[in-house]
Amino acid sequence: MPTTQVVWFKRDLRLHDHAVLSTAAARGPVLALYVIEPELWNQPSASMRHWQVIQAALFDLERAIEQHGGSLCVRLGNMVEVLVELQQTLDHFTLLAHEEIGEDWSFTRDRAVAAWCAGAGISFSELPQFGVFRGQHDRDGWATRWRQFMTQPQNDTPQSINWTNHPSTANWQNWQPNPSRHSIADFNLPNASAVLKAFLQSRGEQYHLRMSSPLSAPEACSRLSVQLASGRLSMRTVVQETWRTQREVKTWPAAQRATWPRALAAFQSRLHWHCHFIQKFESEPELEHSNMARSCDGLRENDFDEAKFLAWCTGQTGYPFIDACMRFLLANGWINFRMRAMLVSFAAYDLWLHWQRPAHHLAQLFVDFEPGIHYPQVQMQSGTTGINTLRIYNPIKQSMDQDPEGEFIRRWVPECAGFDQLRIHAPWEATAMEQLAAGCQIGEHYPEPIVDHMSAARFAKAQFAGVRRSAAGQADRQAVMQRHGSRKTGS
Ligand SMILES: Cc1cc2nc3c(=O)[nH]c(=O)nc-3n(C[C@H](O)[C@H](O)[C@H](O)COP(=O)(O)OP(=O)(O)OC[C@H]3O[C@@H](n4cnc5c(N)ncnc54)[C@H](O)[C@@H]3O)c2cc1C
Repeated sequence: MPTTQVVWFKRDLRLHDHAVLSTAAARGPVLALYVIEPELWNQPSASMRHWQVIQAALFDLERAIEQHGGSLCVRLGNMVEVLVELQQTLDHFTLLAHEEIGEDWSFTRDRAVAAWCAGAGISFSELPQFGVFRGQHDRDGWATRWRQFMTQPQNDTPQSINWTNHPSTANWQNWQPNPSRHSIADFNLPNASAVLKAFLQSRGEQYHLRMSSPLSAPEACSRLSVQLASGRLSMRTVVQETWRTQREVKTWPAAQRATWPRALAAFQSRLHWHCHFIQKFESEPELEHSNMARSCDGLRENDFDEAKFLAWCTGQTGYPFIDACMRFLLANGWINFRMRAMLVSFAAYDLWLHWQRPAHHLAQLFVDFEPGIHYPQVQMQSGTTGINTLRIYNPIKQSMDQDPEGEFIRRWVPECAGFDQLRIHAPWEATAMEQLAAGCQIGEHYPEPIVDHMSAARFAKAQFAGVRRSAAGQADRQAVMQRHGSRKTGS
């Protein structure tokens, strides 16, 4: 009997450019397996909207496998227990998966799986799915390896797969995580290739010019993050399609090219950053729990103010633009980069909250939660990397720059909709008469600002200046530069 190749799907829910599937199909009969692991869904970063993404992606994957003559086996339980069960049914099998660069939990789970396989005499191989390299320490060679990885031909979906079938857990489609926080009403996961095509053919033309405002970003950004985080699209496909479009645009007359070259160059750098950040996390997974610069330990940890945290989480800080962004995110599961950075900056500097619980809250809200980008970014925007310049966003300035007429605020903070475009950014400055005319009395219909931004920012700067001047801060700077300072990407 040929050995069954068990392809363990995780955050790689696609058939095209799936190196693991292609390898397995070339070796023998393939069992396509996805395991719903309830423990994963109990993690503090997990939420119902993540399951909505995975469930929709599984439905699509199931359909695609059926079109290729097979079936997807979805089991519910602990991965090792599922393997024990498979061992009883299949005569012999090998296990193949993509490397997962996830949180502590998935890393521990993968080690348990590897240990079980070793004990049971079952081969377990893992292949990279991004330009991220396990055990990589040579930062100088990273960009070259990234390019080599992205240049390799994509793996077409194997045309003839000899499928092995195994029954799914009954009614897995109705399973729901517990706790079931933050579901999205009428959730719809668009077709990944269509999103990419629309971006590269039309939506992306002014990407670099329109990415910063929450009014234009939903249309101007690629919106590929949820597709990449769930693995419905391989990064290599996105990179190669972008290169192809860049080559094509070069052949166009100047007038037709317009803003495309700069837009595509800006987009291409972000694709690079995706892997660059995940590589940081691969090399230093402690970033999920600990400050990158240990000289920041103790700076905020003991001052956690629950009331401020709750106000931030629910969009009730009294800063209309902050609240509009949080409410938009609560409703949609996505917001653009600058607004993510501003939300973290407000939690970290204005509210002086240690980053970990805000990081979990945002992770729960982001449908595209990607631990390897998320934790390093949260730390960067909170000042705990020890190397990056403090970037304290002024929420009023951001509001005036990114939403000058208050349109976004009016949509998401309707309590403030009656203020004119001068007052809407800082409605507490409106006179009693103006508040009456706007139908919004500050402190009654909408909260007073939770802190004074200027004094909070002064306090935060002074605290960080102290840490950075200290001997520990200086030593950290050197050490972190050595480990993570970027030579290529400017981050
Ligand atoms: C505090 C914070 C947390 C973040 N958490 C996540 C996260 O959990 N998952 C996630 O995918 N992105 C995260 N980002 C990065 C970025 O905001 C999102 O990738 C982007 O907004 C997703 O929208 P898009 O796909 O339309 O991006 P586009 O602007 O169209 O970019 C294309 C792709 O490039 C990558 N990318 C873009 N910007 C960055 C960046 N600054 N760093 C690394 N990769 C980038 C993403 O894969 C993205 O899908 C975070 C940023 C911040 C400031």
